[in-house]
Amino acid sequence: MMDTSSGKGLSFVRRIYPPRIVGLGIGMLSVMAGISTLDMAPWVWGLLLFNGLIWPHLAFQLARRAKTPYHAEYRNLLLDSLMGGFWTATVQFNPLPSVTILAMMAMNNFAAGGQRLFLKGLLVQGAGAGLSMAVFGAHLQLQATPLQVYACLPMLTLYPMALGWVCYRLAMKLAEHKRRLSALSRTDSLTGLLNHGSWKDLLQLKFQICQQQQCQAVIAIIDIDHFKTINDTFGHVVGDCVLSQLSSELKHSLREDDLAGRYGGDEFCLILPNTTLEQARVVMERLRERVGSYRNPQLPELRVSLSIGLASCRQDLADAESWLNEADKALYAAKNSGRNQVNFAQMDLPTLNLA
Ligand code: GH3
Ligand code: MG
Repeated sequence: MMDTSSGKGLSFVRRIYPPRIVGLGIGMLSVMAGISTLDMAPWVWGLLLFNGLIWPHLAFQLARRAKTPYHAEYRNLLLDSLMGGFWTATVQFNPLPSVTILAMMAMNNFAAGGQRLFLKGLLVQGAGAGLSMAVFGAHLQLQATPLQVYACLPMLTLYPMALGWVCYRLAMKLAEHKRRLSALSRTDSLTGLLNHGSWKDLLQLKFQICQQQQCQAVIAIIDIDHFKTINDTFGHVVGDCVLSQLSSELKHSLREDDLAGRYGGDEFCLILPNTTLEQARVVMERLRERVGSYRNPQLPELRVSLSIGLASCRQDLADAESWLNEADKALYAAKNSGRNQVNFAQMDLPTLNLA
């Protein structure tokens, strides 16, 4: 609830505005019908018109301009309840208008502020009713004319629709936020690729699928050579640009099914499904050459080279970790044999059992 008092307060105010216009506008009709049979002073009619037609806009402006819109809107909702209670007693508790007003307000208060606002609303409605009885006296009118019945129908149908619409839109918005947050939690912020955690989750999944269906897949670990020197020579901003450039290169050159992630620092990781080691080698060689030929007119000295380790999924691999280890070893070998090259774990080498 902390945030609702400042930033989110304004959207709360905006969310309540349209249903209040509808609710108070048509709620006014049921009260008008309720007092039409009573001999009410002109100021009561004036107050009713004000409450039904002007107050929704005034309430919105007051809350919008308030220092804490959330609190101002909360106060407006309580004022709504006060007036609701007032009109209930003013129509002399005529059952249909009274129940209509109270039920709609209960729904509104629950939707806007939960149980707390509902209970506070009840108290304030009681106070409003008391105020009316102090002014007009306490009366009970249990007979409803046909006009009073019909005048309640718009409120009973349109207002739940309006509130339902608001709730639906809110639910859609929440779903969209959830989707965005979930995507964000899976994405590396600098490169927009999968982050370490989500790439590894997918690796587990792919490994299981490959083991079950005996399909071919290759993983690649790509590491920029002497990236620290690039940072030290040209600065971290240039270093970041190199990382972004490499990630867009990956995004453009890979197929839709390929999964590219940033493993961390200057290390990138790929899962290439339905690919043989040879096909992967060709694709990675092409990538290595393309990145090696990058030239920047503003930084003529800048050269970027890649070392890449490949490993294909095999039946004898115990788990996804060992698959990754193979690619890591191949990368290590590429680094040790002079960098700027693609290396892959040999299938026919005896596998180390690390378990
Ligand atoms: P090697 O050829 O052995 O891979 O050498 P290297 O210098 O690339 O290897 P090392 O792992 O020592 O250096 C990686 C560097 O990447 C160290 C770190 O400062 C830098 N780095 C890690 N994350 C980022 C980042 O997000 N932006 C930038 N600009 N640099 C980063
Ligand atoms: Mg490196």
